[in-house]
Amino acid sequence: MPAFHRHAAILAIGDELTLGQKSDTNSQWLSARLVDLGVMPGVRITIPDDRAAHARILVELARSHDLILSTGGLGPTDDDLTRHALADAMGEGLVEDEGALETLRVHAASRGHDLTLARRLQAMRPPSARMLPNRFGTAPGIHATLERADIFCLPGPPREMVPMFDACVAPALRADPARAVTTRVLHSFGLPEAEIGTRLADLMQRGCNPTVGTTASGGVVSVRIRYEGEAGAGATATAGVEGTVRGRLAPHVFGGGADTLASVVVRALSARCERLVIAESCTGGTLAGAITEISGSSEVFETGLVTYADATKTRLLGVPEELLRSHGAVSEPVARAMGEGALRSPGGASARHALAITGIAGPSGGTPAKPVGTVFIARSSRDGGEIGTEVRRFLISGARADIRERTVTIALAILHFHMSGVATPHLLWQVPLQGAKT
Ligand code: ATP
Repeated sequence: MPAFHRHAAILAIGDELTLGQKSDTNSQWLSARLVDLGVMPGVRITIPDDRAAHARILVELARSHDLILSTGGLGPTDDDLTRHALADAMGEGLVEDEGALETLRVHAASRGHDLTLARRLQAMRPPSARMLPNRFGTAPGIHATLERADIFCLPGPPREMVPMFDACVAPALRADPARAVTTRVLHSFGLPEAEIGTRLADLMQRGCNPTVGTTASGGVVSVRIRYEGEAGAGATATAGVEGTVRGRLAPHVFGGGADTLASVVVRALSARCERLVIAESCTGGTLAGAITEISGSSEVFETGLVTYADATKTRLLGVPEELLRSHGAVSEPVARAMGEGALRSPGGASARHALAITGIAGPSGGTPAKPVGTVFIARSSRDGGEIGTEVRRFLISGARADIRERTVTIALAILHFHMSGVATPHLLWQVPLQGAKT
């Protein structure tokens, strides 16, 4: 048994993976968890349901790795060959594990199944290995030792694999204390990734410790700060770099870790006991959906109106027909009227803020003056008896789904910046308001 787990290998097993019919999300998840736990994944290998190839790879990996995690191939069907490949690699046969067999018996009886020979196979393990209980499925995992490596074979379905990793593998890991890993992720919105790269260029050079890297998704750019070295020094080192990154990207950093724009907005509304009403056109309710995905949103979310047709913009939000006729539904005055109308509507009576969206998600409907991707977003807020409104115009790139998703992100960012008390900066995809008339 190795003193520390320094070099890890991750195996994903199954024809469906090598043939491209299924994405290997297990390995991605395991890599990230190992890094969190201070164990570096060195290689990731995908192999088909091929007993000989699987056994050969295990033997090779066990010579140079001290931790091997595999997922898949533990079930009752003919193509589930992980236990056989493991036994071959170890030069052992298979024996029936009494405890695992009893668990299978109880499970089969509770469902009125026969414990067939195929199902019974799931209780087999190499004699020197031990079983790992599966609380969410029938196939137990297996822990074995080969050469210098600890081998953990986990089931393929993520809903079984993840809890088994947390219960049986994570507590058994021994990270090298000289190579402790501390990570911090900050999320920003509003600056292009290239601009962030320029602002953080010196921190992102190879060889720095902590290392700094960025990833972009839907307009949100996340900055990952990762320290690897003596345990104890990591917290100070990452905190120092975090302060520098926040300073250079201010005011665009909206949160860190598991934060999303929706979660920080819901948290801020909740902290101030303020409520939100939403009026959407081209996003069809997805902004309201993003808010209501967050636990606790019922405290802060009043009403979401999907006013797709012009007539409903008038009937439900009081947008004047004349405004719609003269400026078109996708226009600054209509977005403004939608935001203010949402606050004045019966559903917005107790709301402090409104977000309103009107735009052209495409692929049809664009004009030279208002091409596909043109979106107006209004934020209206009550201040005493007055309603104040800001409207911004955007030209958002991407296909229909991208435009809708990015619109939701931008709307949340606008409200976030307003509630943070910072002047909302010029945002990604924002264009001047003028020129908006058809
Ligand atoms: P079961 O007892 O369900 O048969 P198993 O350990 O034998 O589990 P597989 O039969 O190899 O696992 O895979 C079962 C299912 O688990 C696959 O259909 C797939 O949906 C999922 N799965 C397997 N491997 C992966 C992976 N690497 N990433 C994501 N999902 C996976």
